[in-house]
Amino acid sequence: MSRYTLQPGMIVPQTPFYYCDIDLLQRTLQTATTEAARYGYQIHYAMKANAEPHILYEIQQAGLGADCVSGYEVECAIENGFHPSKIVFAGVGKSDREIEYAIRQGIFAFNCESLQELEVINELAGRLGKQVNVALRINPDVRPHTHHYISTGQSESKFGISYAEIDAALAELHAMKNIRIFGLHFHIGSQIRELESFAELAGKVNEIAAWFTSKGVELRHLNMGGGLGIDYNDPDGEPIPDFAGYFRTFHENLRLTPGQTVHFELGRSIVAQCGELITRVLYTKTTAGGAHFVITDAGMTELIRPALYSARHKIENLTAAAERRPIGLCSIAGPICESSDIFARDIEFPESHRGDILSIRSTGAYGSIMASHYNMRPTAPSRFSDGTIWGQSNLAEL
Ligand SMILES: *Cc1c(COP(=O)(O)O)cnc(C)c1O
Repeated sequence: MSRYTLQPGMIVPQTPFYYCDIDLLQRTLQTATTEAARYGYQIHYAMKANAEPHILYEIQQAGLGADCVSGYEVECAIENGFHPSKIVFAGVGKSDREIEYAIRQGIFAFNCESLQELEVINELAGRLGKQVNVALRINPDVRPHTHHYISTGQSESKFGISYAEIDAALAELHAMKNIRIFGLHFHIGSQIRELESFAELAGKVNEIAAWFTSKGVELRHLNMGGGLGIDYNDPDGEPIPDFAGYFRTFHENLRLTPGQTVHFELGRSIVAQCGELITRVLYTKTTAGGAHFVITDAGMTELIRPALYSARHKIENLTAAAERRPIGLCSIAGPICESSDIFARDIEFPESHRGDILSIRSTGAYGSIMASHYNMRPTAPSRFSDGTIWGQSNLAEL
């Protein structure tokens, strides 16, 4: 059942809003850090999954570093207490200003995605009189079993540098005095549930690292990226992802040289299960063809994953569950003027009425952070289990 529980006589605040269970976040962080520590692995939290200050505070307190994909995220990480020495900066399109900002802050490493980017960083670092650490993002040509929009590690993807390109440019790279290539970075995609994909990645990393070593590049750090998936179908069966199995897979398959450290960039697996989107039923209707629709006051402006990736989230009717109403088939749709604004099609769902409160589960990652103002809708606030509220709109409550 939802972690947001309706008590008799309780007045539910204005919907929609995100609800976050801080206790589950803390237990998730505890499990992830304990399992990583067994092998001396370091975790950087992928800020793009959710950057609400309260969540960042808990994550930073648990000792994780930050993985950023824009200069704005680097700035946000620093403002929220992450030490620059624990910040990595990835992304295929870093602007000159973003690079300069990150160099000035003295971040731990740039994860570089093209030869041209390496030249630009070398030049900008030279102008600032600095030498910066660089990990090369290598495209390992691994195809994880996940949605193609969130799969990033195959050879035709826009991410990363191919091995062949590096080979041709090695002499040039050695001549760049303001960058130090000290590691490799990989990230093959997101929502990966089969640990074999990570075993396959580790095998490729072994080959690629050996090749670099044979070319005289000393690799101090290996960064395996993120991508560990969560159980969207059964959030209560698996509230905390299998971090033990995940890190063990790398431990059993990666071959390290003495002194080498291993880094991870986890986003979804840290924050997804502690968040829910709470919404109210505005209307119910049945089409001429007999399809039942429940129209909610949350839409793709609050949660775009179903429209963008055909993602499925478990949805519960909290009001109906309390009354044990009968179950039928229906679709759940938002109010936005787009046909793709549908959270679920033809699912088994309790008979629903105007005013019912629904919870869309597992929305702590890539939910509120991807919100938009389309149809001039204000930001939905986030309410935390400890009473904190964040992001309340300053627009009039309509
Ligand atoms: C998105 C991203 C991550 C995090 O992915 P999750 O699936 O949320 O764990 C890690 N590294 C990079 C480079 C990313 O772009």
